[in-house]
Amino acid sequence: MCRHVGYLGPPVALDELLLRPSHSLLEQTWAPKDMRHGGTVNVDGFGVGWYRSDRPEPGRYRTCGPMWADENFAALAPDISSGALVGAVRSATKSTPVVRTACAPFLSGRWLFSHNGSVPGWPESLAELVEKLDTTRLLNLDAPVDSAVVWALLLRRLDDGQPPADAVRDTLVEVVRAVPSARMNLLLSDGDLLIATTWTHALSVCRTDNAVILASEPFGVPAAARGDSPGTAGEPRWQAVPDGYLVVADRVETSLVPLPEIELRDP
Ligand code: GLN
Repeated sequence: MCRHVGYLGPPVALDELLLRPSHSLLEQTWAPKDMRHGGTVNVDGFGVGWYRSDRPEPGRYRTCGPMWADENFAALAPDISSGALVGAVRSATKSTPVVRTACAPFLSGRWLFSHNGSVPGWPESLAELVEKLDTTRLLNLDAPVDSAVVWALLLRRLDDGQPPADAVRDTLVEVVRAVPSARMNLLLSDGDLLIATTWTHALSVCRTDNAVILASEPFGVPAAARGDSPGTAGEPRWQAVPDGYLVVADRVETSLVPLPEIELRDP
């Protein structure tokens, strides 16, 4: 299953955060350690969205194919620095196309979104929920993939003005109610917040005195994000997030709230 990373902190070059650390997102393409529920590598594409100080909307790069094979990204990454980003490497769910537009992060306005998981039986299993989406949203789906439908359902809530953490929670609940076997580790950012869920997949959090990182798998924290107060000397600590949690982090604090018990419909 895909791997994703969200970062808020001092500006760091994309290669310093995603390519060079020990067990970086790059290494997680061929040697992930905690995939769970199938999938062995994450080679069906990747994407990075990064927030910029001179424009409201983030920049984004997505491509299909393994991250290690993209010489252009490796060449550009040292020249792009950001204090907030979302990155993901993809392991395509069965019966979905391996195309650039199916790769996270999905983007709208300031929002960046990634889904680590799958919705079995889609699109039929999501038919009832898809009826809530108007034609424009359906025609603008990035790709015929379950994650793009989950993103459309979440974006509808965000566009309606629902607070983002509530919108993420409620989207997870509505999808799991419709498809109880759905795997739903979600990650959303607007450049000031990281909002994530754990629903059957791995996620860890690392907070230093000047940065916070949420990631499917822990990796070496770059020097710029380590902070320099005496209390954080040495390798920063990663903490595994238990299953069934909503994580909300900004530059100052992180909160972990259990997701609600989900009442499943009678079969
Ligand atoms: N279902 C999504 C996709 O294909 C995410 C897959 C994953 O987490 N492995 O692309």
